[in-house]
Amino acid sequence: MVNKRFHSVTLDASKCKGCTNCLTRCPMEAIRVRGGRAFIMDERCVDCGECIRTCSYHAKVAMTDDLGIIENFEHRIALPAPSLYGQFYHAKSIAVIIEVLKHIGFTDVFEVAKGADIATRMLQEELKNPDRPKPLISSACPAITRMIQIKFPTLLPNIVKVKQPMEVAATMARAEYSKKHSVPKDEIGVFFITPCAAKVTAVRNPIGQEKSEVDGVISMLDIYACVFPILNKITPDENIKIATPYGVGWANSGGESRATNINKTMAVDGIENVANVLEEIENGRLRDLDYLEGAACPGGCVGGPLTYENKYVARNKVMQLVSELPCERPEETVPCRVLNSYDFKMDTPIPENCSMQLDEEVSTAIEKMERINDILESLPGYDCGSCGSPTCRSFAEDIVRGYCNITDCIFILRDRLKVMAQQMVDMSNTKRE
Ligand code: SF4
Ligand code: SF4
Repeated sequence: MVNKRFHSVTLDASKCKGCTNCLTRCPMEAIRVRGGRAFIMDERCVDCGECIRTCSYHAKVAMTDDLGIIENFEHRIALPAPSLYGQFYHAKSIAVIIEVLKHIGFTDVFEVAKGADIATRMLQEELKNPDRPKPLISSACPAITRMIQIKFPTLLPNIVKVKQPMEVAATMARAEYSKKHSVPKDEIGVFFITPCAAKVTAVRNPIGQEKSEVDGVISMLDIYACVFPILNKITPDENIKIATPYGVGWANSGGESRATNINKTMAVDGIENVANVLEEIENGRLRDLDYLEGAACPGGCVGGPLTYENKYVARNKVMQLVSELPCERPEETVPCRVLNSYDFKMDTPIPENCSMQLDEEVSTAIEKMERINDILESLPGYDCGSCGSPTCRSFAEDIVRGYCNITDCIFILRDRLKVMAQQMVDMSNTKRE
């Protein structure tokens, strides 16, 4: 069900110590600490998962579906993200991982890497279109798309109109299974195995499409725990057709750019780094660039907050598995018939998210900005976070928005108490005289 307010990343208040660690690490300045507990400002959060990585008390969690959700369907298809392959250092092949998924309850498996192969073909077509603005920006990482909605709305037209590989794979998986087994499509459950919270939110609250094709999203960590004990005890069918090395390569930062097979691409990982490059593009630099691949997570999806393996180990494992696949390109494996038979393009526009705007009225927004600057001048500029806002500027903004009071700044409070104490001393001295 579509839930416009849904966020996978949430706070477990019972575990939060109010330590402010997450406060300064959130790239969207979406966290505040008030009354000794953190809270997430829903309208600013992009579910990047940085706070999950940061919190030492595990108070930030990603809501995902339990594996038991697959029991709701007799026909259950697993959609493993390509980053899943990097989680099993001892896995002999991709085929063995796919086979084990069938042993833990799925009736079939459709690789998201195959969705990435199809998305690559669609992307190549879009890149050829002279009417599209350059650089085109990948739509694969929903955390980045949401950040663009909030911080870089002028770049919204640059986002490619191809659905995420997860959605492409879900459409194909359902259609192929329905045809092969003569089962109505609505009796088939399609479940994505996710490396991140952002994809969970993208299913419940889709971007660029009305409704997701995915019926449930299961954490890669949960799947890891089920798969690891039986991995390599199972003999796979090594003849099954795996996605191309280029599709599987989408797991790592740079894989998507390599798959497009064009020259002027740039792959950036880490949400802050992507924000810096987007700023450069917004300022009119990087005019030569044709394509920007941005991943919120360090290293790409192998660095997702719901992965098990160290991202460098996972990256290497993916590269090793890729090197063992037949050297085919998506142009060879994805027939035009597939591209023409299904709708893999986004069908709804991606709107701007105005949550950072100070006011709808320009004159009022300017007034508020002036007040923010005035307040900022009176603050110490330490960006210490003790007030519960991530920086002095965001604190000043919070005051103007009515979220807090200037005396929440301990330095201002200390100065005011000093003045009051001096006034009391002066008063008592005056009385004695
Ligand atoms: S998920 Fe990302 S954007 Fe949301 S609160 Fe955590 S760090 Fe901030
Ligand atoms: S880089 Fe990949 S794993 Fe990380 S938030 Fe984006 S889509 Fe999810």
